[in-house]
Amino acid sequence: LHHRFIEKTAASRQWFERAQKVIPGGVTANIKYFDPYPLVMASGSGARLIDTDGNRYIDYNLCYGALMLGHGHPVIQKAVNEQWDQMGTTVTGTPHYLEVEMAEKLVSLYPGMDQVRFTNSGLEATMFALRLATAWRGRNTIAKCSGHYHGGYDQVLVSVQQGEVDENGFPAVTADSKGLSAYWRENTVVLPFNDWERTEALLIRNHERLGAVILEPVQSGFLPPERDYLLRLREFTTLYGIPLIFDEVKTGFRLGLSGAQGRYGVIPDLTALGKVLGGGFPVGAVGGRQEIMEICSPTEKGDILTLGRSGHGEDVLFHSGTYNGHPSVMAAGMATIRVLEEPGVYERVEQEAFFLRQGMEEILDRHGVPGYTMGDGTIFNLVMPTDKGYRSTNLLQGDKTLRQRLDFALLEEGIYLKPMSRFSLSTAHTHEVVKETLTLFEEGVKKIK
Ligand code: PMP
Repeated sequence: LHHRFIEKTAASRQWFERAQKVIPGGVTANIKYFDPYPLVMASGSGARLIDTDGNRYIDYNLCYGALMLGHGHPVIQKAVNEQWDQMGTTVTGTPHYLEVEMAEKLVSLYPGMDQVRFTNSGLEATMFALRLATAWRGRNTIAKCSGHYHGGYDQVLVSVQQGEVDENGFPAVTADSKGLSAYWRENTVVLPFNDWERTEALLIRNHERLGAVILEPVQSGFLPPERDYLLRLREFTTLYGIPLIFDEVKTGFRLGLSGAQGRYGVIPDLTALGKVLGGGFPVGAVGGRQEIMEICSPTEKGDILTLGRSGHGEDVLFHSGTYNGHPSVMAAGMATIRVLEEPGVYERVEQEAFFLRQGMEEILDRHGVPGYTMGDGTIFNLVMPTDKGYRSTNLLQGDKTLRQRLDFALLEEGIYLKPMSRFSLSTAHTHEVVKETLTLFEEGVKKIK
């Protein structure tokens, strides 16, 4: 399986061996590891990455979807340089104009946002959103969907893997990490995404103890919601006064400028953003209804003329972060949004994604390899079913061995994708790049026939 991969990537292997001695597993995030070792990249530009052996790849990972403008876009470089020139420093440690402008921009784009706070990652954003929601509602139990990922902390590392169900067909409540307190399993209701009947049964049984319902509107960025599922969830949570949180860390600025809420027309109480928003720098944001957001305000009811509270204590919801709203990040993010606001940008990238998906399916078909794509907009995944024609929303039920063989064949041909993961496109994935991808893809498919 890995024969040619190993031949081509000696430098990556050497770096990985060095890394492993000082970094557990040789990776700074578990998700970045794959067997036999992850590629160690040296540089990137536009749609491309070059590894430490000098192999060139068309990048479809794009830092897990964060790089909507591709690698090293000149407008981002210029914006960060300008921020440095204007402020003379990377960070002031005080409020500054860029974070105000960014907050205004988000409020204008996202229908579910009256106010916004910034964080340094998507993880922090969903964590803060959950704290706001549960505090506002005054209940600690949360409901999340089976298989939905919201970041690597205890409260949401319950039932991250999709699959297991109990004897009644409800998702099993699993601990998906060592070191997870039983508290979180006991205080998490796990919902089956897109299965309204079972979801409603669970909500009816548990609504009194629920402080929040959180979900990825598009699971893992590529399993779209039944619009009806989102609508009914919205109706139910409104009826019982439970804050509904959309984790739009992946879908924000991917499914258009207003994310999934804009695309599907369902408005949450709170929204978590990350990834694309930072223009390639670490970022997160939480926005939502004023009535909920302002419980973290250190001023009384948002009134700046009172002396205010300390920001600590029982009467205020604590939120802090040394680097929240970092000027370089805000500058990079605003530059990204300005490019994305140009007419036709999303349409073009989505057209290329569609063209690529169609082309891949045609090639698979032509060579008699079972497989189809799933997704919405600029992110999709490739499912290789065990049974031809069998369509499932559960990737785990697919033929993992075949998919892995294909992914390594693609790496050898020069398509970078973390094996078994999604494809994301950027504005740098032009028609030429996508056509080149299809040629390489066909070579890869021929190899696994
Ligand atoms: N929520 C979703 C939907 C995500 O995709 C991710 C990251 N993959 C996160 C939260 C966590 O974001 P971060 O990695 O920036 O902490």
